[in-house]
Amino acid sequence: MTETDVLETLARVGALVTGDHIVYTSGRHGSSYVNKDALYPHTAATSEVCAQIAHHFAGAGVDVVAGPTVGGVIIAQWAAYHLGLAQGREVLAVYAEEEQTETGKTRTFRRGYDALVAGQRILVVEDILTTGGSARTVVQAVERFGGTVVGVGALCNRGGITADLLGAPELYSLASVPLESWSAEECPLCASGVPVNTRLGKGAAFVKG
Ligand SMILES: [Zn+2]
Repeated sequence: MTETDVLETLARVGALVTGDHIVYTSGRHGSSYVNKDALYPHTAATSEVCAQIAHHFAGAGVDVVAGPTVGGVIIAQWAAYHLGLAQGREVLAVYAEEEQTETGKTRTFRRGYDALVAGQRILVVEDILTTGGSARTVVQAVERFGGTVVGVGALCNRGGITADLLGAPELYSLASVPLESWSAEECPLCASGVPVNTRLGKGAAFVKG
């Protein structure tokens, strides 16, 4: 599966919109939109893209796949399933939940998953990397509980996120969709009169003024 195949799959289920005029939650404007929530109801498409992440890490001796709640739970399940098939032995899937500490938001393994992570080789997965914050806190949680992170696998890298930034030895993203954006005043799409998409993001509110 090439990056083009991944993008086509995402586009087919409505999870990727390009060449459009979108108003993001931040109020900034851009031409593309990645909506992971549109992917997950399509289980075959979700399985297909996660199989590609599994394929990439098939030789890494992964014991457990860990993702952040909520979307990362689904990715972890499918990636672990396909890694298990590829490696010929069971690969577990767990997830890391948010935890508020004095120093800010972090993630932790509850429900007995901490014991599954300790001493194991862990692949961290995430759907969309925008700031990389969620994936980074999962990497940190794995290390805190005594696991070894072998890498991070993501569906889509939107922010030019690197392995270094995540504190992981490797980052593998199926697709890159740069999050180029402009303020409404500087938006070239507004300037050339391209209509705003009112079905996605904050387009409807923007048009209403
Ligand atoms: Zn605009």
